[in-house]
Amino acid sequence: MSDPHRDAREFDLIDRIRRRVHARDDVVLGIGDDAALLRVPTGRLLVVAADTLNAGVHFPEDTAPADVGWKSLAVNLSDLAAMGAEPAWCTLSLSLPGGDAAWVDGFLDGFLELAHAHRAALVGGDTTRGPLSISVTVHGFVAPDRALRRDAARIDDDVWVSGTLGDAAAALAQWHEGSPRDAFLRARLDRPTPRLAFGAALADVAHACIDVSDGLLADLAHVARASGVGARVELDRLPASDALRAAFDDATRHALQATGGDDYELCFTAASGLRDEIERIARETGTPVARIGRVEAGEGVRAFDALGAPWESGRAGYQHFA
Ligand code: ADP
Ligand code: MG
Repeated sequence: MSDPHRDAREFDLIDRIRRRVHARDDVVLGIGDDAALLRVPTGRLLVVAADTLNAGVHFPEDTAPADVGWKSLAVNLSDLAAMGAEPAWCTLSLSLPGGDAAWVDGFLDGFLELAHAHRAALVGGDTTRGPLSISVTVHGFVAPDRALRRDAARIDDDVWVSGTLGDAAAALAQWHEGSPRDAFLRARLDRPTPRLAFGAALADVAHACIDVSDGLLADLAHVARASGVGARVELDRLPASDALRAAFDDATRHALQATGGDDYELCFTAASGLRDEIERIARETGTPVARIGRVEAGEGVRAFDALGAPWESGRAGYQHFA
């Protein structure tokens, strides 16, 4: 696209990015031409996901550049994990207020650390002047019969979730309130862990799967709607970190876990006969997992407290904080 404000500094930034990128055998042509040329393996589906992070909306303005880099890729890889896919390539569109090379170097530290860890090659993108905004697209592969879709939950399935819930929302609450900020919780907000190995292994056993980005109840409701079923969740079974338990009373914690956003954990459903198998996969991939509820006939997602009473949240789902 023609841009009258484009200058040599933007080409310099692209060059800084190109010099740090790692190759993959299936990248025929990466950064530098009008488009990338990529070899898609025969017999597998190409899986594509994209997500944008805007400063002040999707991350606090005081977030370190390396954490912005990590998170902008992590939220995308989390979508691949939720499909049971293996990552291969990514593109990066950067809108930057200034041609700040130091910011870009810091951003790349986090972005490329995660990219290399999962063998995702950066193959192209765009660099423009504007408000700070990062758009990433990830590409991966999955066998045609192994993709984990939202519409595959079955009545009487167990509902499971990986990791812990509510940590990122807790960090955001502390950031808003100016209350003492816990470093563990803040790291969960800034550096989510995409559950790729676990997602790929789940393809053998899980029915439906989604990554929790907008809050557990909201995201599980997407699964329920797509699958034409309902679900119930037991609040006291929701996995909590020690840091979350220490920082909030039970009622606040439950609200953060059930409705807070930015967890990037996998929520999935599976037949109840496969509990041992799921625990085994969790152990083998080093992924904590908790069984939190059940798929039922009907529609909607209902949460129940430890006494079996229906629980109403004050908030319907994650509200972006700007
Ligand atoms: P064009 O005008 O053809 O879009 P650009 O000057 O925008 O070309 O980009 C030149 C090359 O650099 C392209 O291969 C593009 O994919 C790559 N590129 C531009 N910005 C980025 C970025 N932020 N990250 C990775 N690659 C980039
Ligand atoms: Mg371009």
